[in-house]
Amino acid sequence: MAIAAKTEAGRDGIAALLDRPAQALAAFDYDGTLAPIVADPSRAYPHPRVVSALASLSRHLGLVAIITGRPAGLAVELAGLAGAPGLDRLMVLGHYGMERWDAASGKVATVAPPDGLRAVRTALPSLLTSLGAGRADIEDKGLSVAVHVRRLDDPAGVFAAVEGPLRELAEEHGLVAEPGRMVVELRPRGMHKGVALRGLVTEARATVVTFTGDDLGDLTAFAEIERLRADGFDGVRICSGSAEVRLLRKQADLVVDGPEGVTRWIEDLVGQLDARRSTS
Ligand SMILES: [Mg+2]
Repeated sequence: MAIAAKTEAGRDGIAALLDRPAQALAAFDYDGTLAPIVADPSRAYPHPRVVSALASLSRHLGLVAIITGRPAGLAVELAGLAGAPGLDRLMVLGHYGMERWDAASGKVATVAPPDGLRAVRTALPSLLTSLGAGRADIEDKGLSVAVHVRRLDDPAGVFAAVEGPLRELAEEHGLVAEPGRMVVELRPRGMHKGVALRGLVTEARATVVTFTGDDLGDLTAFAEIERLRADGFDGVRICSGSAEVRLLRKQADLVVDGPEGVTRWIEDLVGQLDARRSTS
């Protein structure tokens, strides 16, 4: 049975995608969307069926892309995308679009690290210790730094204690702090998933756009879809639902149950696209 959207715009968007798949761009967040959230972010492997589902989807659509806050190369490695069958046209935008990997070249294009990142790196350990979070995991992503508190005792309490000071530290050094699921990331200003999505829409000349995400950093991509819809594009905002994030769920056209639900949604879509192709 088809998975239905809860909004009219979402239903129109899905209908448009089925009618004009060659003009469609489907973009996905990685962590919490294609891969379950795990305590150790270096072991966030994709849902077991999702890579082959993405490959099947990319046979039908204009462009399938992953837009993640992770370094592009790391997402490619974790997801096992390099050389995966059927994924030759997949694109991965890492660091919110500052890095790009495409399956055709197999290479990552990147930019220089932002000014201020070095000072933030140096200041972080003592700041965290002074906040009672000295055992938080610091993930150095090259173009940004993330502080993970999921593995600490009372992660929610620690998160509340560190979020404000991390924001101040970021601002002091010309960066921004982006809160997520038991993580705060300090990264350059001006680049976010909305900007990354807009660039891909232009590049792919897409007229139908879907974005699937699970966390607060995905709200900018949802907002971009709203903007595109106001300009006459079709679009669908899909939430990979979790108990941790409620705001995204409210703004979505369609809510599915975590990476398992996302995988089923992709498989369902592929089934409908296959059926249309075989009858056309
Ligand atoms: Mg995510």
